[in-house]
Amino acid sequence: MTQTATSLQATGPAPLIDPFERAVTYLRVSVTDRCDFRCVYCMAEDMTFLPKADVLSLEELERLCSAFIRLGVRKLRLTGGEPLVRRNIMSLIEGLGQHLKTGMLDELTLTTNASQLGKYADQLVAAGVKRINVSLDTLDPEKFARITRWGRLNQVFDGLQAAKAAGLDVKINAVALRGVNQDEIPAMVEWCGREGFDLTLIEVMPMGEIGGDNGEGDRLDQYLPLSTVRADLENRWTLDDSDYQTGGPARYVTVRETGQRVGFITPLTHNFCESCNRVRLTCTGTVYMCLGQDDAADLRSALRDSNDDGLLDAAIREAITRKPKGHDFIIDRNNRGAAVERHMSVTGG
Ligand code: SAM
Ligand code: SF4
Repeated sequence: MTQTATSLQATGPAPLIDPFERAVTYLRVSVTDRCDFRCVYCMAEDMTFLPKADVLSLEELERLCSAFIRLGVRKLRLTGGEPLVRRNIMSLIEGLGQHLKTGMLDELTLTTNASQLGKYADQLVAAGVKRINVSLDTLDPEKFARITRWGRLNQVFDGLQAAKAAGLDVKINAVALRGVNQDEIPAMVEWCGREGFDLTLIEVMPMGEIGGDNGEGDRLDQYLPLSTVRADLENRWTLDDSDYQTGGPARYVTVRETGQRVGFITPLTHNFCESCNRVRLTCTGTVYMCLGQDDAADLRSALRDSNDDGLLDAAIREAITRKPKGHDFIIDRNNRGAAVERHMSVTGG
């Protein structure tokens, strides 16, 4: 073998590096835009979903994810909509789990509302999933029903128990909502401490119309800066700054009294774009290079036009050359609506 061939084999294809020298190593994939809940900050109650014909098959999604992995993606998160409501989703998860076995992928994980974990927790572990994020904004059943519109808290608790029993590491994600769960966050810290869950708090982001004219409030009503939440927490808990990193945008503290971590994701009060390592893929094969910008690239044509992955790899590389420096979310009295038109369920957060 020649020297060049040997070194090519050792290094593989060139990694995905964006124009600002950031390596793209993290892919989030929305496997469906559908969901069994209708959270007030995420969806309107009468959402129109994508026609099924526009949605990639599970085989197509696997091929697309595998292309990203070949080009250097090391971490993959499945999200949605609700990823576990997609029919036969385990076949995709099991297929992607093979990349963990070959060492091409470091982590396969998902973000879920937990409603289906009772059914799937064991199978997820068998496929190589080690930790999951569960979105839960309140521990009060009535408030939960109000926030999710269609969800039942008991089902989520059952799902969480199944996840624990299966050995999954669980992190709770909660969106901080002014006047809704604001008073409850210190109690959620306590509950997470008891359950052994880390907790990440997220500011509401201006994504997609959510029906603010029908009594559910608009984004300014929902928006609660995490600086306020942190100050409230410090009245009850000792928060020690931590340099813990998950490869995501959260800044972590350790709660001295419980030993669990609390993360803060502050897209509005603190811009975290400079270390962004990710892109987001929708279930129709569109890749968004930034959560807070509308620019996107279609990968579905390249996927369907050829069985040879060369076209697909080129389309992915072209998309990465368009990754912008950052986003510019603003929620204030002049900017009450959506900064980007698509809903969070399109890209999955
Ligand atoms: N259905 C799954 C779930 O709820 O975990 C995965 C998809 S959901 C779109 C992913 C995350 O986005 C959830 O944690 C949800 O709370 C968050 N989210 C949805 N809309 C949001 C918004 N406008 N601002 C901030 N977070 C939002
Ligand atoms: Fe569904 Fe998740 Fe959106 Fe809630 S946040 S409506 S669970 S996709």
